[in-house]
Amino acid sequence: MSFQTTVASEAHFSGIGLHSGEQVNLSVRPAPVDHGIRFHVSRPGGAAPVVIPATPDKVAATAYATSLREGPVALHTVEHLLSALAGLGIDNAQIHVDAEEVPIMDGSALPFIHGLLKAGIRPLAAPRMVIRILEPIRVEEDGGGKWLEVTPLDTPETVIDYHIEFAHEAVGTQRYRFALSPETFVGELAAARTFGFAREVEALRQAGLALGGSLDNAVVIGDDGVLNPEGLRFVDEQVRHKILDLIGDLALVGRPVLGRISAHRSGHGLHTRLAQAILARPEAWELVDQPEARPLVLDHAVVA
Ligand SMILES: [Zn+2]
Repeated sequence: MSFQTTVASEAHFSGIGLHSGEQVNLSVRPAPVDHGIRFHVSRPGGAAPVVIPATPDKVAATAYATSLREGPVALHTVEHLLSALAGLGIDNAQIHVDAEEVPIMDGSALPFIHGLLKAGIRPLAAPRMVIRILEPIRVEEDGGGKWLEVTPLDTPETVIDYHIEFAHEAVGTQRYRFALSPETFVGELAAARTFGFAREVEALRQAGLALGGSLDNAVVIGDDGVLNPEGLRFVDEQVRHKILDLIGDLALVGRPVLGRISAHRSGHGLHTRLAQAILARPEAWELVDQPEARPLVLDHAVVA
C-alpha cells in the first residue's frame, strides 16, 4: 500500500493574482492524516481567517478559473496549486493565503512544484485510500458537444485522454494522452502555462478579470499567433495545460481517482461537475488501498 503524505516543512509563494492583480503571499504547511487540503484565507482588520476546505461543494464559480467560497469569503484560481499538490501526491496540507486569490506565478504549476519539492514530502502513518471507478460517470454541456467522462480501467492507474478544439488556428485541435504519476506530471504537464486570446482581454478586464495577466504569466494568442517573445514551451502546450487544470479541479474529490478520464472540449465547469458527480455516486466506485508507489525519482534538472 501507499501512505498518505504532507509537506515536510512550510513552502512559501509570493506573486500576483491573475484576475485581481493584487500581491498575494501564500504558505503551504504540514497537516495530519485525513486532514485533506484546506485553505485559510486572511481577512482584513485582524478578523480570524476563514477556512475553506478544497471540496466540490465549495465551488462558487468556474469562469476563467475555479473559485471556492465559504460565506462572504472567496478564493479564486485554486486549480494550479491543487494540481501541483495532486501531481506530487500530497494529500494533506493547510494553506494560508493573505488575499482572495492564489498567486498565478508563471501561469503553470512549475513554481509550485519547485517550492513543494524544496519543502519536502513526508509520509504519514496511515494508508492512502483511493477511489477505483467501477461504472462510467459522465457530465455534459452544450447538448453533448462538450463532455467529460470517467470509466473503469483494469489497471490501478489514472489515464487521461483530453481533446480540445478551438477555432483559432494557433490552438486548433489538440489531443494528449497521459498516465498520471509524479514523474509524468513534472515532466509533461507542470510547465504548461495558462493561455488566453488577445481579442478577449479587453472584455475580461472590463469584467474585472485578468487584471494581473501579462506575457509573464500566460500564453497570449493574437490574430497572427502567440505574442510571447519566448514562444511556446510545448507545441501542444494548451492541451497539456487543460490536463493540468483537470487534475487540479478533480483534486476537489479529496483522493486520487483510478480510471480512464476522457475529455472533449471540457473546462473548469465540467471538471468540477465531474468531481461533484463522483462523490454523489458512491455506488459507482469502491475505496481501495493504493498499491505501493515506486520511490519518487525526478530528473535533477527539473528539481533544481
Ligand atoms: Zn489553468
